Amino acid sequence: MKARVLVVEDNDLNLELVTDVLRNAGYDVDPARTAEEGLRLAQEQAPDLVLMDIGLPGMDGLAATRELKRSDRTSRVPVILLTAHAMKGDRDLAREAGGDGYLTKPVELRTLLREIAAFLANPPAPRVEPVSNEPLCKPHC
Ligand code: MN
Repeated sequence: MKARVLVVEDNDLNLELVTDVLRNAGYDVDPARTAEEGLRLAQEQAPDLVLMDIGLPGMDGLAATRELKRSDRTSRVPVILLTAHAMKGDRDLAREAGGDGYLTKPVELRTLLREIAAFLANPPAPRVEPVSNEPLCKPHC
């Protein structure tokens, strides 16, 4: 079965290019132009991986990634964040938002395909749940 990739990108040309490249590489692709559309498609289509632009109108890609990681249905889907503005600290922000991978635009297509294949072959381990107020459990309780 083909792996399904959700691509969230507000630049039409970039979205078209990445969608074409991924389809030619054998993936099913759901394109989305906003975070809101991406979140909806993520719930509906259960993608195997998400490519998320950070710079989006309205809700940005970091906030959208946090939403994906909060949802039981999508929390284990690897998210690769892309940014056009490689600002110092962006990588940390991406990680804090729950991003699994991080790439700087312009992304070389071979690099993008390699990253996607690597995450699909070896999905990131589920994150440790946020610390709760529950008392810590001993090994056998
Ligand atoms: Mn953008």
